[in-house]
Amino acid sequence: MSDNCLFCKIAKGEIPSKKVYEDEDFFAFHDINPAAPVHLLLIPKRHVVSMQDIGPQDTQWLGRMMALAPRLAHDNGCTPGPDGGFRLVVNTGVEGGQEIAHLHFHIIGGPRPWDKRAAPAA
Ligand code: 5GP
Ligand code: ZN
Repeated sequence: MSDNCLFCKIAKGEIPSKKVYEDEDFFAFHDINPAAPVHLLLIPKRHVVSMQDIGPQDTQWLGRMMALAPRLAHDNGCTPGPDGGFRLVVNTGVEGGQEIAHLHFHIIGGPRPWDKRAAPAA
């Protein structure tokens, strides 16, 4: 836990969020500024800054976090199967586009009728 961390505060319920999942180790909620019809953030409750802090000692909980992602995606509106899917994005460090310094997976998906690649053939 870091005293001044936005996502630690969200995980503890001190700052409100639209929660979609919680267990002993993880917390998931809707991104406040969604980039697609489904845009979730999945975080560990422990304060880990970024993937740059990950090492061999983290494989167990990180594996469980990774395995949670498809379940949360499908439970929250991402279309299953090869014609559906979702993006799993982990911005890492300032040069990696990370703005919040608490490790988070973006789970981004849902139907995009405005995306020509996703539109049915005419
Ligand atoms: P990053 O750029 O660090 O990978 O992503 C941070 C994400 O957190 C952004 O997509 C941003 O919209 C989201 N975000 C920032 N502040 C809040 C907040 O207070 N609540 C929620 N739900 N999302 C936030
Ligand atoms: Zn934190």
